[in-house]
Amino acid sequence: MFDFHLHPARLPHPEKLIGAFKAADYCFVAIACEPWEWEAVSTMDTNNKAFGIHPMVAMQVSEDDFKKLEGYLRSDPSASVGECGLDKRYPGYGENGMQEAVFMRQVELARDLRRNLQIHCVGDYGRIVALLKAAKFPDAAGLSGSAKFSEVARLSGSANSVPRPVFHRFGGDAGIVRAALPMGAIFSLHADSFKKKSTLAAIPLIPEQNVRFETDADETTFATKENTFAGDGRGAANGDAAAEYGVEQVVQSLKERWLATKSLWDNLKV
Ligand SMILES: [Zn+2]
Repeated sequence: MFDFHLHPARLPHPEKLIGAFKAADYCFVAIACEPWEWEAVSTMDTNNKAFGIHPMVAMQVSEDDFKKLEGYLRSDPSASVGECGLDKRYPGYGENGMQEAVFMRQVELARDLRRNLQIHCVGDYGRIVALLKAAKFPDAAGLSGSAKFSEVARLSGSANSVPRPVFHRFGGDAGIVRAALPMGAIFSLHADSFKKKSTLAAIPLIPEQNVRFETDADETTFATKENTFAGDGRGAANGDAAAEYGVEQVVQSLKERWLATKSLWDNLKV
């Protein structure tokens, strides 16, 4: 089981969870998408981390934050960049706006450091693809087209030396799948990926080796009436939130969510 997008620092009992995940053979990409979360995830005893700036905080980041972000990435050569991207629910979404600027800096970081890029998109997937092309990601890292991509992957023998765009919680259509596959894109599917008609029609076009599954679990996953956060429910450390959920219960629940998502995909195939 490999959860391709998880926010361990936002879950209940984060320090105990890491050991419980290991004991349960639950592997994951640990996503950290704002400064407090970088700090928390950087010290966790786990592989496969990602450090980035989420569009929800794009208006708040400083030059100093970018320096810190690059520092975390350079000190962990296997880390991905992200999650980052565009989200129409947050300020700065417009064309040439702040979200775009913050995203592009991270695309360039991923390109230059040769890292996978975890992409968040609520809104225009076409704009994301256009921005990746404008930044020549991942082409400028020595790739062009799917044929060359697989050749490089074969020669390097290591997934990490070939940077790939990862469409997290994928919600795009068939056109996006066709445009992104030649970039070596990975499509990380969430239960929500199976809700939209146009995405449902696109998923069967994705080759199996480009498909992953995720829970995107964070502080909202185990929120109850008592501990629901104000606003959109994100951006705060979870503290004692959802403490009524024991460590084993959290692991079990995530396993069930991951398996349920995978079976949605299995059922779509037949
Ligand atoms: Zn996320």
